[in-house]
Amino acid sequence: MSQQVTEKPFILAIDDEQLNLELLRFILERNDFIFKGTSNVDHFFELLAEQRPNLILLDVIMPSIEGFELCEKLKGRKEYKDIPVIFLTGKVNVRDKVRGFQVGGVDYVTKPFNEQELIARIQTHVELRRAKNQIEQQAENLRQSNALKDRMFSIIGHDLRSPLSAAKLKMDFIMRGIIDPKTDQFVDETVFELLKTMDEALSLLQNLLGWAKSESNQIQVIPEHLDLGDIVEQTFRLLKLGSEHKKITLINNIPQETYVHADLNTTKTVLRNLLSNAIKFTPIDGEIQVNAISKKDRTIVEVQDNGQGIPPEDIPKILNPNEHFSKLGTEKEPGTGLGLVLCQNFVNKNGGTLKIRSTVGKGSTFYFDLPIGEKVTV
Ligand code: ADP
Repeated sequence: MSQQVTEKPFILAIDDEQLNLELLRFILERNDFIFKGTSNVDHFFELLAEQRPNLILLDVIMPSIEGFELCEKLKGRKEYKDIPVIFLTGKVNVRDKVRGFQVGGVDYVTKPFNEQELIARIQTHVELRRAKNQIEQQAENLRQSNALKDRMFSIIGHDLRSPLSAAKLKMDFIMRGIIDPKTDQFVDETVFELLKTMDEALSLLQNLLGWAKSESNQIQVIPEHLDLGDIVEQTFRLLKLGSEHKKITLINNIPQETYVHADLNTTKTVLRNLLSNAIKFTPIDGEIQVNAISKKDRTIVEVQDNGQGIPPEDIPKILNPNEHFSKLGTEKEPGTGLGLVLCQNFVNKNGGTLKIRSTVGKGSTFYFDLPIGEKVTV
């Protein structure tokens, strides 16, 4: 069903008398409404499906169907139930009036129409519906930002607190002489652990801020021509600590001079998350490759690991923004289920789609497409 594009309210009427329809058209069009009318029920539903009206005028007495019954039908369908219905009628008794309200009508207009009364009643209900829509939208926005706030507090309170507490504990041990800084293992073990914990906390903090910004529509995507190979190299350097610790080989297969037209920060965040996941879910001595395949005007970027893989039933959960699905890594590394939701969102913002191929026990490939860029010469 197409949405109302114009600001002018669209009124749809059904009445068995052609003359009434003509009169309604005359009155409504000269009062700046868009009007369509019919005397045929099937045609009425066709018009309804073509364009959603702001309000419906229903004749109560028609040969083929009673207006009340038609209104009941409309209110029974979830796509139409919110459209206000005004009954057009001759003289009505109280019982009929009550019946009209019971089946979901909002008002009556008696024939012969008085122009001012007709317009006033229509305008009131169109405005009421608009205001109600606005309130519903605001309530939905509030619900979403509350959920966002709750989730952020839970991540800060738990997932961010634990690496910081662990680091603090280690430093405490050093201060109190429980860990001796003069031993050979000090740099290899204690400093390494501290650095890794700090890396974890920092990357979580970056994801958290990125996610909060993108959920509240504050992310600005400024596409530029990026050298993909360079960004992959930079990301490899950033994640060296984790990959070397697990003796994982990182291979950059991006052909020389592969350029994409994308935003630098969001693209870096996507690659950092996909690569750190690949490291996390690949056992010791594994291998991770980053490939790029350019076809027509798109470049497909692939992050491929030979790690534990993902069961098919988990794949839809992983990309579901409301799920925050998370499992421990091969070395019991914890997670928040934030990374891929963010990646998906950032890839979409750059005009691409994030997809997954995976076989349990063999490995996973996360891949996404970006618009091809050109080399910029300065
Ligand atoms: P986190 O890594 O913090 O749990 P993500 O959103 O980055 O959150 O990932 C969600 C889940 O997807 C992970 O917990 C894991 O179960 C699965 N996953 C992601 N990347 C891989 C991968 N390369 N191999 C196997 N499983 C993966």
